[in-house]
Amino acid sequence: MKAVVVNPNSTGVEVVEHDIPEIGYGEALVKVEYCGVCHTDLHVAHGDFGQVPGRILGHEGIGIVEKLGEGVTSLKIGDRVSIAWFFEGCGHCEYCTTGRETLCRSVKNAGYSVDGGMSEYAVVTAEYAVKVPEGLDPAQASSITCAGVTTYKAIKESGAAPGQWIAVYGVGGLGNLAVQYAKKVFNTHVVAVDINQDKLDLAKEVGADLIVNGHDIKDVPAYIQEKTGGCHGVVVSAVSKVAFNQAVDSVRAGGTVVAVGLPSEYMELSIVKAVLDGIRVVGSLVGTRKDLEEAFAFGAQGLVVPVVEKVPIDSAPQVFEDMEHGRIQGRKVIDFSL
Ligand code: NAD
Ligand code: ZN
Ligand code: ZN
Repeated sequence: MKAVVVNPNSTGVEVVEHDIPEIGYGEALVKVEYCGVCHTDLHVAHGDFGQVPGRILGHEGIGIVEKLGEGVTSLKIGDRVSIAWFFEGCGHCEYCTTGRETLCRSVKNAGYSVDGGMSEYAVVTAEYAVKVPEGLDPAQASSITCAGVTTYKAIKESGAAPGQWIAVYGVGGLGNLAVQYAKKVFNTHVVAVDINQDKLDLAKEVGADLIVNGHDIKDVPAYIQEKTGGCHGVVVSAVSKVAFNQAVDSVRAGGTVVAVGLPSEYMELSIVKAVLDGIRVVGSLVGTRKDLEEAFAFGAQGLVVPVVEKVPIDSAPQVFEDMEHGRIQGRKVIDFSL
């Protein structure tokens, strides 16, 4: 089978011929239909979290269960399931038992610590594979498997209430869906901030009330404060510390900054401002199986419509290059039927 793997020097990706994986107890073999390319795949390919040469990438995988290992009771052949970054937890630690399973210290992550979904066949741990509901387009479901659930969860973490203001810094693959969940599911007003006008135009199309181009506006936080009175929450999915620093200055007193993007940098945080204004800064990592089930449901209802472009697997190296240079609108999704 064909697979997209991290190249031997951990500088990028290559498409290789790979053996079809064997399944063990509790596992299922999935014939992959679609797998989106997330900026996290680019971080993994570049060794930003540690080098994993030869690893099959991908954690926005969607496919059909073709074979069941012994002991599987939660899936049946023919089910459509997801292959997500949260691939498996231990099931019994303090995080797994308190609704915070993505923080499990023994977690397995698809496309990083175990092989992921960018291959014609992939293995899932049956109890951790979330089923895709009827009525949700499978290519769109691929985007919800990471970009969607991550931003849905991040907005939850912000504590946003209907009618409040949410800012989204970085409206690329994740941010475009953040705008949609904030607007259509949480009923908030939304400010979209980016440094690429094409991303902002698309954010406006999917519901942003206010768009701000960080290249054109001199003082982005001051502009947002003036227009909104300060946001109640900010989701930062930009891959730049500039955006994280601006985010802190964009919230009103009592506001929450939810860090989602993963630039390998440090952000600045004024201690006095954090204390006197009671600002919370929290990290948010993908979402639990339950969060993904909910995020899928809003997609199936048509409230959230991921913007996807289907591409063949052989174009994967080009897609990664396009992502690095900010040339993608929404998500590019590998379509294994092309
Ligand atoms: P993307 O490349 O599609 O989008 C990033 C966007 O940020 C682009 O539109 C870019 O123009 C914009 N940007 C860059 N600098 C900016 C600035 N200074 N101000 C405003 N916008 C700016 O990437 P993506 O797939 O959306 O992923 C975004 C980040 O989120 C990556 O670091 C990725 O690894 C991370 N991520 C985190 C989680 C999580 O669970 N926390 C999950 C998925 C992805
Ligand atoms: Zn991702
Ligand atoms: Zn655990």
